[in-house]
Amino acid sequence: MACPFFVPSHRLEIAGWIRAPRLPLGDPFGGACHARPADVIEPPESRQRELCNCGYARDRCDRFPRDGAADAVRFSVTDETLTMLSFVYVVEKDHAPVEYGTLKYAIEDARLDSPNISDILVQQARAFLESYLSRRAIVRAAAP
Ligand code: SF4
Repeated sequence: MACPFFVPSHRLEIAGWIRAPRLPLGDPFGGACHARPADVIEPPESRQRELCNCGYARDRCDRFPRDGAADAVRFSVTDETLTMLSFVYVVEKDHAPVEYGTLKYAIEDARLDSPNISDILVQQARAFLESYLSRRAIVRAAAP
């Protein structure tokens, strides 16, 4: 589950892990911390790998707000066709959902139907989709 303050912008090399964990955004991403809107930074890569990509950084990251409303965000595909993906997002705190919803993504025109969610959640959803669709393309290319 990614940190709710993390805005992913580019993929990180898998080689940074000895054994790549199953990550909430699919692939590991680099990006920026928006925990302090007036002081957006790109955290050190080690912190991005261990905390920003994985969530639950409360008491482990000095930038995580003490009153942070949530600990992590996760995504999961629930339905798909060649042209459309449906997936859910869950924002959680203390391992319980505090917000959730369903999103739809039209693959051909890269349109994400994302009503009433934050810009950060949209960026995380797009990173998750990028990972998911690249893995799907690899699986389809390998199919007989
Ligand atoms: S883990 Fe820390 S540095 Fe990374 S996005 Fe969250 S608050 Fe920012």
